[in-house]
Amino acid sequence: MSLIVKKFGGSSVATPEKIMAVAKRVLAEKAADDKVVVVVSAMGDTTDELIALAKGVSDNPYGNAREMDRLLSTGEQVTIALLAMAFNKLGQQAISFTGLQAGFKASTAHTKGKILNINPKRVLTELEKGKIVVVAGFQGINADGDVVTLGRGGSDTSAVALAGALKADACEIFTDVDGIYSADPRIVKNAKKMKEITYNEMLELARLGAGVMQPRSVEMGKRYGIPIHVRSTFTETTGTFIREEYTVEEKEFIIRGVTHDDNVTKIAILGVPDQPGIAYKIFSALAKANIDVDMIVQSIRNSDQNVIDMVFTVTKTDLHQVKAIIDDIGKEMETLGVIVDDNVAKVSAVGAGMLGNPGIAANMFGALAKAGINIEVISTSEISISCLIQADKVTEAVNAIHQCFFKD
Ligand code: ADP
Ligand code: ASP
Ligand code: MG
Repeated sequence: MSLIVKKFGGSSVATPEKIMAVAKRVLAEKAADDKVVVVVSAMGDTTDELIALAKGVSDNPYGNAREMDRLLSTGEQVTIALLAMAFNKLGQQAISFTGLQAGFKASTAHTKGKILNINPKRVLTELEKGKIVVVAGFQGINADGDVVTLGRGGSDTSAVALAGALKADACEIFTDVDGIYSADPRIVKNAKKMKEITYNEMLELARLGAGVMQPRSVEMGKRYGIPIHVRSTFTETTGTFIREEYTVEEKEFIIRGVTHDDNVTKIAILGVPDQPGIAYKIFSALAKANIDVDMIVQSIRNSDQNVIDMVFTVTKTDLHQVKAIIDDIGKEMETLGVIVDDNVAKVSAVGAGMLGNPGIAANMFGALAKAGINIEVISTSEISISCLIQADKVTEAVNAIHQCFFKD
């Protein structure tokens, strides 16, 4: 007997036929005494369509974050009901649960909720009765009793966290690719599929834009020691395992993957007074509003005027809020102005092997130079290098960097 959590993403459940196919596949893979929990996303592009609906009545729907959550959480609730019905049709008892019913407690921050804990009492009770439990991903309940969504791609995190809370034997993420590749296979034709990748490297790839897994889901896998198997809904092939250490791949990799993120906006605050406490003032105001700031660069002092420029990046979805905060700060500090540029994107190379391997950054910059692509901002971590470039150069940049590190 095994307890298995399986998660199916939006494209896997996009139509009633696909939902029926998912139900059939789950039953075909289930041993008679297995306990199975299925976590699902909203059907197809439903979440995008719900966001478009909200934009139809408000030019800043995320300013109404509580109501946005009410709206966005409905997508997954449609899928759970349909999938439970599909199981019933196939003669398998099943029951659907919202995030609340499955016991997901989340932090208060609307549209950016984090799972605080899960009390899966009802899930366990229904599994004991021999039912398949179908759970809505992407949602939890905050301390006020309101529904909170977990950020785009949040169903991955729901699934891995639930697998941790249930001490599941396996957690499988079914999607429209058959594993994790060395770059998004939609934009790099010769991207290489991995048999496995460590939590740390996958976390960095996900954080830097590899949309195949939400970063927090990888954190959850690491925290609970749950190996995550990312695989295709549409084929039987073994996918990629995300785990603590390499176990089957023989090669030591210097670069594991190349990724890109176009949900980026560059903000430059010009003529900021060069004095102690200024960075604190800007970034604590943004932190208080729950805004993630990524690349940060402070220019050297302009000695005539005793001012500096502060450049940083935020996600496009936070732009409305960021502008309001920066405008207030700008007035207070009497800065020279703000430049907002959302025609940018970030490309990154990730690999634990770059530690102690000098020259990786130079190779990456060389690949971009050869392709005639200008670098606007650079940032590094122990296992990654990122460059901010013009958005329309992304495909070219990712391919150039991939070609440099993954020669055929
Ligand atoms: P789901 O709806 O199943 O959650 P997503 O669209 O969120 O699916 O994630 C799957 C997509 O992630 C793939 O179609 C692929 O284009 C993209 N992707 C980005 N980077 C990678 C990568 N390194 N390996 C595999 N897929 C990737
Ligand atoms: N439906 C949500 C989204 O599109 C959550 C998910 O699919 O993981 O982001
Ligand atoms: Mg996803």
